[in-house]
Amino acid sequence: MKPVIPKSHPRAKSLYIREKLAHAFDSGLVAKEGLMAHGRGEAFDYLIGERTSKAARKAIKAAASMLLLAKTPVISVNGNIAGLCPREIIELSRVTGAKIEINLFYASEKRKQSVLKTLRKNGAKTVLGTDRRNSKKLSGLDSARRIVDKNGIYAADVVVVPLEDGDRTLALKKAGKKVITFDLNPLSRTAQTADIAIVDNVVRGIQELISACKKNPSKTPFDNKKNLADSIIEIKKNLMKRAVRA
Ligand code: ATP
Repeated sequence: MKPVIPKSHPRAKSLYIREKLAHAFDSGLVAKEGLMAHGRGEAFDYLIGERTSKAARKAIKAAASMLLLAKTPVISVNGNIAGLCPREIIELSRVTGAKIEINLFYASEKRKQSVLKTLRKNGAKTVLGTDRRNSKKLSGLDSARRIVDKNGIYAADVVVVPLEDGDRTLALKKAGKKVITFDLNPLSRTAQTADIAIVDNVVRGIQELISACKKNPSKTPFDNKKNLADSIIEIKKNLMKRAVRA
């Protein structure tokens, strides 16, 4: 198939990501609502300047250290993540020893199987969240995402939840887990509730996180609230630069 987006297009990168998600939607991985959630993320990425900010780099370093020090880390995978970066999820799992668990908000057996197939195609060996016999419920949550695997998220000390909704982040926190998230929106409940929110496009940030894990970073103090404030200030600075008249 002839590529629709020319490499020379000024917004090529962003459009490639859209194209990837559209394909993932067509193949049953991503829910319609997932496309809209991506739109919200895109808007914030524009404001951030579509690059990994200083604050995000700091959060990535802290996340790498938390993951490497974790005893039972788990990466929670939804449709958008499976559609955007399946290979990177598997690489992150490999370098940190984290298990991979499928956990969907708009859950259906068919979509779960599509996510599983994609992860397998990209090299995943063990994927949790698909065997009903291992189901456990997280309390304080009404959505389908409360069902977790007893050998995965239920037993985890650290959970990576890329592109999460606020309710579940809160439920994971109440269950005593440390939560690492990727969220382009520094104002979201997820970003505000997580222990470490990486305010970056997951497509860029996950590569950086893998590299940071390979470097074996030492533990440094990290304050999520302060880091989110720094992310907002970086957005403000970026906007101020753009607001300067010629
Ligand atoms: P919350 O419930 O946490 O307040 P929300 O209602 O925005 O947030 P969702 O609708 O689940 O939660 O949206 C998912 C979040 O994922 C959005 O905040 C959006 O900014 C973010 N997002 C979407 N695409 C990406 C991406 N590619 N990388 C990082 N973050 C993204």
